Amino acid sequence: MLILEYPRVRPRRLRKIKVIRDLVAEARISIKDLIMPIFVTEGIQKPQEIRSMPGIYRYDLNSLIRFISNSLNYGIKAFLLFGIPRSKDDIGSETLRRDSVTYKAISTIKREFGEEVIIFADLCLCGYTSHAHCGLVRTAKRGSREYMVIDNDETLRIYGKIAVNYAEAGADFIAPSGMMDGMVLAIRNALDTAGFTDVGIMSYSVKYASNFYGPFREALNSAPRFGDRKSYQMDPRNAKEALKEILLDIVEGADILMVKPALAYLDIIRLVKDFVPYYPLAAYSVSGEYAMIKAASMKGWIDEKRVVLELVHSIKRAGADLIITYYAVDIAKWINEGYDPF
Ligand SMILES: [Zn+2]
Repeated sequence: MLILEYPRVRPRRLRKIKVIRDLVAEARISIKDLIMPIFVTEGIQKPQEIRSMPGIYRYDLNSLIRFISNSLNYGIKAFLLFGIPRSKDDIGSETLRRDSVTYKAISTIKREFGEEVIIFADLCLCGYTSHAHCGLVRTAKRGSREYMVIDNDETLRIYGKIAVNYAEAGADFIAPSGMMDGMVLAIRNALDTAGFTDVGIMSYSVKYASNFYGPFREALNSAPRFGDRKSYQMDPRNAKEALKEILLDIVEGADILMVKPALAYLDIIRLVKDFVPYYPLAAYSVSGEYAMIKAASMKGWIDEKRVVLELVHSIKRAGADLIITYYAVDIAKWINEGYDPF
């Protein structure tokens, strides 16, 4: 009975001092795991701060190059690029052009930085269409009733063309975010047919119809003009369905899988990682997550650095290999400065 009189196994031994805690820490963040989202637009003279995302800017091409060069100094080398066109129409035709802001940004970045920088080109229609849906919209008729539908398969044909356009500009990875059925296959086929067999696909495999996207829609001016995105993005109540989306993306040829958002979906990240441990998994910590932390820290209610580092480790601990976060450059700076709250 002696054994019950005092604890023999004392977990606290491993928590005693920082050096030991560091030695046995399970989740570790490296600057190399981080991907920084960037917004580029035309017709502005200097970077424009996004109102609901203090510290995050829409850049013109020149200031974007400076921003990337500055980020490189801190070790951030991977960027997820969103172009904001000057004109929008029903079919997002600007996204197919070689003089579009996205094309110019990709080719300029690659010319400037070559293989030092990896560009993930976000591919979707919502930032380019006047209705701001991720797919093409057409009117369908049932009896006497007319209604709007997203034309999945027509959209795939455009996605394929956009992918080739971005690959031609020099994108390393295409990152389709529209949640259309078959999008990865359509893009893989289009890329391969055009000879871009070495351009990869990071698919927004499991993207929820989340309410955490609000600030991003301000950044891209891409809130849907009618209806919502629930007919293509996933229902937040579902977990098992994520595995169906993951299976499809693997079969269709995705190289990197993604779960989006991150914070309210840590269980999904873990589920996916356990399901396919052999595929790199990215988690996208979205604009609403950034905005919540930023707002609370600006009010002095939380310690920004500590909270951000806790959260980013929690995303890693949940199973993400790569983390897409608006805090990427800040985190890299803090790590470079030797900041360590653990
Ligand atoms: Zn979209």
